[in-house]
Amino acid sequence: MTGDQGHIGEFDRIARFFAPLAEGAPGAFGLTDDAAVLPPASDGLEWVVTVDALVAGVHFLPDDPADLVARKALRVNLSDLAAMGASPRGYTLALALPKTLPATADWLEAFSRGLGEDQAEFGVHLLGGDSVSTPGPVTLSITAFGLVEREKLLRRSGASVGDDLWVSGTIGDGALGLEVARGRLFGAYSDLADRYRLPRPRTTLGPRLAGLASAALDVSDGLLQDAGHIAARSGCRLVIEAPAVPLSESAAAAISDDPDLFARALQGGDDYELLFTAPVECRSAIDASGRDVGVSVTRIGRVESGTGIELLDRNGVPLEGLSEQGWRHF
Ligand SMILES: [Mg+2]
Repeated sequence: MTGDQGHIGEFDRIARFFAPLAEGAPGAFGLTDDAAVLPPASDGLEWVVTVDALVAGVHFLPDDPADLVARKALRVNLSDLAAMGASPRGYTLALALPKTLPATADWLEAFSRGLGEDQAEFGVHLLGGDSVSTPGPVTLSITAFGLVEREKLLRRSGASVGDDLWVSGTIGDGALGLEVARGRLFGAYSDLADRYRLPRPRTTLGPRLAGLASAALDVSDGLLQDAGHIAARSGCRLVIEAPAVPLSESAAAAISDDPDLFARALQGGDDYELLFTAPVECRSAIDASGRDVGVSVTRIGRVESGTGIELLDRNGVPLEGLSEQGWRHF
């Protein structure tokens, strides 16, 4: 069937490409029933549920490899679970494929292989799903389920005046990586395109921050806009020190060649890092958590009274015109 241009029946599709992904999840019944069963959350745990949809040409490039598309779709959901402090347990998938998609079997083969690789990496299983054909572009939606300790759920609304502001990993690789992937940014930054295509959800850090962080989210809309979300939900002002924002070597090199790219790094999306606030007394515990799971964590600012966000330059002076609103209209 390799290179099959024609229609693959629903039962074939499920049996060949998706049922193997459900092995190891008893409640999925090998995808042979009408629905899956989630085991009861044990005492002290709660289920956390999230859904994300991706459309070719909007959230990924139409010629992106199918295995990377699958892994990105799964990972953006796992990132949302991590932002709530939850550990991932399983997911469901809805997939709409154009009838005109060339080599459908090859595409599905790569797509399901990508999911299988990430299932092994993140310890989740496919629990159920649906696939249909569409006159539009490839569209997929994943719903992911995770568990969090009750009372430790991380929300956007818990930041308090005096808290530190932290971020995991590095910022701007996703936005600059998109520029590389689109051929608009050249130079020795090709690893950035990989960061755009394949986010690193902080699935081990998120649960470790549960109980330490006061508020959290994952950076998907851009650092400044997402900081604005915490500020709005928590009723406070977030002050960000621009020189403290952690950059990868490649992003730093790209920005030193073209300083205008710093704005793109802070306002662009697709970082999938965790942005969180925490009381000052949690500093050493947060540093230790980052070390334990091998993810860098950096203090980039603080929570003050007021509203919105403020970005300070190296002298502590607010950067003019770089309010959250201003950046949105860049
Ligand atoms: Mg999110």
